[in-house]
Amino acid sequence: MSQTPILAVKGLVKRFQVGGSLFSRPATVHAVEDVAFSVPAQGSLGLVGESGCGKSTVARCLLRLIEPDAGEVVFEGVDLLGLSKSRMRSVRQHLQIIFQDPYASLNPRRTVAQTLTEPLKVHGLQSASEINERVAAALAEVGLPADSARRYPHEFSGGQRQRIGIARALVLAPRFIVADEPVSALDVSVQAQVLKLLDGLRARHGLSFLFVSHDLGVVRHICDRVAVMYLGRVIEEAPVPDIFDQPLHPYTQMLRAASPVPDPKARFALPRIIGEIPSAVNPPSGCAFHPRCPDAMPRCSLEAPPMREVAPGRRVACHLHSASGPAENS
Ligand code: SF4
Repeated sequence: MSQTPILAVKGLVKRFQVGGSLFSRPATVHAVEDVAFSVPAQGSLGLVGESGCGKSTVARCLLRLIEPDAGEVVFEGVDLLGLSKSRMRSVRQHLQIIFQDPYASLNPRRTVAQTLTEPLKVHGLQSASEINERVAAALAEVGLPADSARRYPHEFSGGQRQRIGIARALVLAPRFIVADEPVSALDVSVQAQVLKLLDGLRARHGLSFLFVSHDLGVVRHICDRVAVMYLGRVIEEAPVPDIFDQPLHPYTQMLRAASPVPDPKARFALPRIIGEIPSAVNPPSGCAFHPRCPDAMPRCSLEAPPMREVAPGRRVACHLHSASGPAENS
């Protein structure tokens, strides 16, 4: 795996205006605030956090399915946020997304062949024989029989539909795949098969992945690194073994405790996740995690902890791991 980033995100911001009427101003949802991470070529990063933390908004901002308000998304050396819509469309053949709900993301009135053919035609492939070849190859890659091409989405199981979603992403031979909760709508028994499929594709084709999930356990076997998000911000980033063996941020420790591990003692040695994620309309002052944090100090509600490198390849935003340490404020 090369260490050169294929994707580098810096200062990404996305806010939404909600509500508002003749008599009241709209409220601002701080969905994504100053998010930064990078993914090495042929590497995979897990973006993990509870529902509502902004991870799926980040995923969509990368492909400009949602337009970010600020920041940089540099893919293979080009800042995607500065591209015209037509240039962006052409870059998307190298940068594909797999959605969470395989049924909702497939058009029920189109056969699998029509679904897989459309992106090829959009990107200028006209030869019928080449199109048929690419469709057949994509179906074979995801373990679906060739006659699946003639069938409609309702004729498949949930796991098979997600395989069709993966084939649709693969048919353009991308170099980077954003997988947005690709297994969370599937039965546990099917999840393992789809994860194994994605891991195999990554190895065979040298693909790079951003793997979005609410479940730390899901990214464990497929990712090299993990970035943990809380209320729109990345609060810890580290290699997978460090996140599992020695999570530093109290929130990561809670996610880790909630994730199934083979050693039950290790699971319960960490604090369990408590409380609800606060509203992104009015995030808590200082460290946004302080109302739920078992280690909170007076300083935590006043001062937002900056993201800091605490070891090579490890970053965390928490006053427990700041240069001045917790002692002076506790
Ligand atoms: Fe907890 Fe304070 Fe660290 Fe935030 S900065 S995670 S409140 S100890």
